[in-house]
Amino acid sequence: AKNFGRDNCQRFSASMAVRTGDRLSMQEDLRLAVERNELRLFFQPQADLRSGRIFAVEALVRWQHPKKGLLPPGLFIPLAEETGLINEIGKWVIEEACRQNRAWQDEGLPAMAVSVNVSARQFREPYFVNVVRSILLGCGLDPRRLEIEITESMIMQDLTRAVETMRELADLGVTIAIDDFGTGYSSLSALKSFPVSRLKIDRSFIAELPNDESDAAITSAVISMAQKLNLKVIAEGVETIAQAEFLREAGCHDIQGYLVSRPVQAAKIADIIRWPRQS
Ligand code: C2E
Ligand code: CA
Ligand code: CA
Ligand code: CA
Repeated sequence: AKNFGRDNCQRFSASMAVRTGDRLSMQEDLRLAVERNELRLFFQPQADLRSGRIFAVEALVRWQHPKKGLLPPGLFIPLAEETGLINEIGKWVIEEACRQNRAWQDEGLPAMAVSVNVSARQFREPYFVNVVRSILLGCGLDPRRLEIEITESMIMQDLTRAVETMRELADLGVTIAIDDFGTGYSSLSALKSFPVSRLKIDRSFIAELPNDESDAAITSAVISMAQKLNLKVIAEGVETIAQAEFLREAGCHDIQGYLVSRPVQAAKIADIIRWPRQS
């Protein structure tokens, strides 16, 4: 039932809008968006629950459309995936995220990791690892400061190939996180054999905490098994103190969500890190 949550509604209405509206012109606009410099990255902090320290940020793409305003990824990433434009957009995202992370370091901020979302099509592209390697070299970012987020279904679609790509990334020093964990079908025991360092518990499991008993049981089980397998674990979509409290008691130390901060522009990240909110 978790699979029919907010994300799918968003995707559904997005494709409806595209179908009833100006699909072709949208496609053309998107093709030009990269060269016209209309894509923007927002960054959402990931924090250690106990110290409040921000140790990483997730890069989230938006499209500053000349007529439609700032569009969320749900309104154009599916189209980018269908048309293959995702490879170009995805490359821009990794490049911009690495460049920005390097810029923060040069400004004197404490070293952080930046996580980027990668689409299935992009992950399967034969030159993907080479693209990542040359971006890292180009901007002189330590590969350990880049994390790639993939989903369980991306791994399961072509297991052999995915494991190979993950190993090549890990050999570069890039870390891998499983995004939206719990919504797919992979077992924790299968994960043990992948070069994955982190699980991100999907926000659909977090939303009804601490009251929903089955979500509470699933979340606690994922946290304790991840720890036994030596995987880091972060909860997504944490909005309330009660949710954070529950997670802390369940042994989860890292959180991401509106409770810490909404996704913000790069300049704002520097402010948040220099002057952390007292809580
Ligand atoms: P995701 O990777 O699961 O990203 C988390 C989404 O949850 C983001 O939505 C974020 O703004 C939202 N969120 C974060 N904290 C909270 C919270 O406390 N409460 C609630 N209700 N929502 C929260 P956004 O930015 O609209 O991104 C949606 C999805 O689009 C992402 O889901 C990801 O799958 C995809 N996406 C974003 N950027 C990229 C990208 O550069 N490339 C690709 N391929 N996909 C991307
Ligand atoms: Ca993500
Ligand atoms: Ca996610
Ligand atoms: Ca998601």
